[in-house]
Amino acid sequence: MQERTLISGIAALSIPNKAPKRKVVQKPATARLNDYISLTGGPSGRILLEMAIHPIVVWPDPRLREETQTIKVFNESVQALYQDLADTMYAYNGLGIAAPQIGVAKKMFLVEPQLAGLSPEDPPVAFINCDVLSEGDEYEEADEGCLSFPGIYVPVERPYQTTVCAQNLKGEIFEMTGEGLLARCLLHENDHLTGRILVDFVGPLKKKMIKLKLKKHTDEIFAS
Ligand SMILES: [Zn+2]
Repeated sequence: MQERTLISGIAALSIPNKAPKRKVVQKPATARLNDYISLTGGPSGRILLEMAIHPIVVWPDPRLREETQTIKVFNESVQALYQDLADTMYAYNGLGIAAPQIGVAKKMFLVEPQLAGLSPEDPPVAFINCDVLSEGDEYEEADEGCLSFPGIYVPVERPYQTTVCAQNLKGEIFEMTGEGLLARCLLHENDHLTGRILVDFVGPLKKKMIKLKLKKHTDEIFAS
């Protein structure tokens, strides 16, 4: 078994200006939340040349429900998948992205470095074969967006804190604890690896409305 490296989300999140400690929060601050919502934005104007930006798989595409495979060999193809995910995440202003969202049924997702407690110049953090180790007792509800649901926001109740365990690109195991938006992002991205997506948090009527709205969105893209 490899040595465990602790990349602590708590360390960064404990900086008061960045994320004041909250216990039970019904309505989180919208500033950071909007970053999450901006997941649904289009390409951001970064230089797109020589970047492997993939089209986002949009619901109800069945690839979002496909069973994902554990990554066992940490070779160049894993590195290439990481790069594809990173390029696509930045192109769409995402805070996170999971492999099924670019049509790859593998257990990998990425989180934007600042949200993960690193500096903006750091590369996105890869979570490979992620497991949720624990979830806090306190919950908060917030609107969630998703690249695979452009223009859709769904109120989702999630644990305020979570600790996950994953492997990095070298196959080394690490743990990360996140609170608030980081916890939400970790759990949202990890849900993608088990085929759980935003429409699983709504009733049948809202699901139908989302389907119609996304169909309209797709029709508009093809018409333009
Ligand atoms: Zn998503």
